[in-house]
This record gives sequence, C-alpha cells and structure tokens, in this order.
Amino acid sequence: MTLSDPRPLLAAARSGGYAIGAFNVIQIEHAEAIVAGAEQAGLPVVLQVSENTAAFHRGLAGIGAASLAIAAAATVPVVVHLDHAESEDLIDQAVALGFTSVMFDGAKLDYADNQARTADVVARCHAAGVAVEAELGEVGGKDGAHAPGVRTDPIEAAAFVAATGVDSLAVAVGTSHAMANRSAQVDLELVRSLRAGVPVPLVLHGSSGVDDPGLVTAVRAGMTKVNIATRLNQVMTAVVREVLAENPGVTDPRKYLGPGRDAVANEVALLLRLLRG
Ligand SMILES: [Zn+2]
Repeated sequence: MTLSDPRPLLAAARSGGYAIGAFNVIQIEHAEAIVAGAEQAGLPVVLQVSENTAAFHRGLAGIGAASLAIAAAATVPVVVHLDHAESEDLIDQAVALGFTSVMFDGAKLDYADNQARTADVVARCHAAGVAVEAELGEVGGKDGAHAPGVRTDPIEAAAFVAATGVDSLAVAVGTSHAMANRSAQVDLELVRSLRAGVPVPLVLHGSSGVDDPGLVTAVRAGMTKVNIATRLNQVMTAVVREVLAENPGVTDPRKYLGPGRDAVANEVALLLRLLRG
C-alpha cells in the first residue's frame, strides 16, 4: 500500500530544493503509465484527476477508484489528488473515495470569498486527514479564461496561507494552461520572493508551456510541485496517430493505447528525473 499523503513528500522536496511531478489522469491508461514511469525512475509521483475529467467520465467514482487502486499497488509513493475543483461537493466525494489530496480552485472568486471558502475546505479535509492545495492569482488558460500578465503577490500569498491553513499553493508566475508550445517564461524573481515569503510548497500549473531548462530553473528558484498534463497528452496522441496511420486495419484499442501508454511512461520517468535535479 503506497497511496501516500503529499505533505511529507512535498516538505522533503521543498527543503531538498527539488520538485515532485504531478500528472493528469484522463483515462485508466494514463494512471498506469504515470505509475509505471514513476517506478522506472524510482521516485514519488502525484496522480491527479481534474474536475473536468470527472465530468467527462460522468462522475469521479470510476476514474478515482481506478487511480486509487493503481496507486495502492505501486512500488513508489503515489498521491491521488483532485485537481482544480471548484465544486465543494466534488471535494467531499474525493475525500470519501480515499483521495489523499485535493485542490480547491477559488481563483475566480474575489480574495475574501476565496479565503473564506478555502478555509472551510481546509477544516473539513484536515479533519479527514486529506491535504489541500489552493490557488491565488488565476493561472490563465483554463476553459479559455486566458489571463496573461496575472501574478500572485507574495505578501497577499503569505497572508492567504496563514488565514486558510492550506498545505500548498498554486501561484501565477507566468505560465498558462493547455499551451501547445514551450514558450512560457517563468518569472523567476517572483518565484524566489514567493519561496522566501510563503511557508508552504509552491505549485506550478501550466508547466507544459515551459521547456526543460525552464522547468529546472523554476524548480531551483523555488517551485516544489510541478503539474504537467498537456505534454503527456501530446505524447500519447502522437503515438496513437502514428500507429493508426501505419496500421489502418487496426481495430483493437489495445494495439494503439498500449504504445501510447509506454510512451507516456517514458516521458514521465524523464520528467521526474529532470524535476529531481
Ligand atoms: Zn492547473
């Protein structure tokens, strides 16, 4: 049983100056691939299921239970995390299912509402032994809500953490979700100020838009959890497209999902080693 609490893993990463990779599960093959990649690298990993993915599957229960079972059978520590939940009901469902971590995304709320609702979520989740990530300063790109230039203020961030008791904080430092190219520049000066002023691990969202050297410097500057989704989707889809193009007679999904899964596992192993430094 290696389903893990993220708090000691992220605390060790923060003090050790490295980061832990968090990857999005869309279908069961992603969860299998992400854990296989983490086992290849011999490093802990976070499996995350987003609110959008739960909606795609018409509920969290199926994909959540699959992720939890795959985590429990892993030979490395695996956190199962609910990503970008705006719904507090969904957070309660994740806690009931046995997720070890949730993200309450109140970035669209004004500061006072975000703080009050996050504090409520933290109280409920901590009572159940579940860690909470929150977001301050909207990271752009989700559902078209592109917000270029948005930045998290370090003083506000420190006050938010103190007022809510969150275990980690997603910050806006120049990245944006769902970027198809790696042209985003992380604001390293801001990351350093946030690292110095905020007492909990910092989470980088939209990391697929950052190239490998950029990820390494962002981690060195102080990012502790790095969320990657689009990059794995690009890898899986490219392999599936290639297999189907080369074998137009294929009908068994295992014939293309299998190679897609292997490619994602290799990419996860590469990324986890990169983030470890
Ligand atoms: Zn995100």
